[in-house]
Amino acid sequence: MPARLIDGLALAQSIRAEVKNEVAQKAPAVGRAPGLAVILVGENPASQVYVRNKVKACQEAGLHSQLIELPLTTSQSALVAEIDRLNHDRTIDGILVQLPLPDHIDDHVIIHAISPEKDVDGFHPANAGALLIGRPRFRPCTPYAVMRMLASVQAPLRGAEAVVVGASNIVGKPLALMLLQAGSTITLCNSKTQNLAEKTRRADILVSAVGRPKLITADMVKPGAVVIDVGINRLANGALAGDVDFDAVRPVAGAISPVPGGVGPMTIAMLLVNTLESFHEHTR
Ligand code: NAP
Repeated sequence: MPARLIDGLALAQSIRAEVKNEVAQKAPAVGRAPGLAVILVGENPASQVYVRNKVKACQEAGLHSQLIELPLTTSQSALVAEIDRLNHDRTIDGILVQLPLPDHIDDHVIIHAISPEKDVDGFHPANAGALLIGRPRFRPCTPYAVMRMLASVQAPLRGAEAVVVGASNIVGKPLALMLLQAGSTITLCNSKTQNLAEKTRRADILVSAVGRPKLITADMVKPGAVVIDVGINRLANGALAGDVDFDAVRPVAGAISPVPGGVGPMTIAMLLVNTLESFHEHTR
């Protein structure tokens, strides 16, 4: 029997509808809607698509969004000043700076400049540390999305073997922490991991977040495993694909998420959830 499909698009739509409902209930009483500021520096075409999708999702859910498009030549200090202005803007609950930034700007300085109370991406060291000690404030949106997708198929996490392939600060590491806190035994793999297939075959929960098409093949998957594909790869023919060889893995897995239509739309939904949580915090 082929694996159950984890439909990120449908799940994201239902989460966005819940956010819209909550905003419609609370905003009139508070006198404002939740506000998200999205900053884009330069004209990276993929980043332009991402930020427009985020802004559109905000508008559809009744959030107030501010898209700040700055030229590629923007200096680091000018960007920090813009963030500082937003840190003090009482109509803004969340600030997101689209990565990657141009080479002359240090990501760490910029992430540090965002107030941890408005860091809806969850990248600020204060929020990363809060997650590490099991007291999360804002969870990074992509791993948060993966956790919601696992919950949607009631994947048992307590006592499960969870293998995360890819160990970046924005996906793999925070996801490993979330799975650990859910009671899974985690294996976190990176580019130096020896005999990757031996590790992935142990996984009840297998997540790939690398950025390499067909990295995960059918022989690397335990029968019945829940497989979540975070990877986004542009193929030579222009199509989008994940890291998982979807057609070959689906007959082996118990549940699997597609690309596109999996983690991508769910990441945006969780950004709205984080912005709404921040709004609740700021309007208590
Ligand atoms: P990243 O910062 O480039 O990190 C990639 C990770 O994969 C690193 O830890 C790297 O190891 C590891 N890696 C590279 N080759 C490997 C291999 N052969 N075997 C095992 N591990 C390997 O990437 P990222 O920002 O986390 O993104 C990962 C993928 O997810 C990309 O395709 C990206 O587009 C996608 N993504 C999707 C969403 C979404 O919303 N759907 C959001 C974020 C990212 P080292 O640490 O040793 O270098």
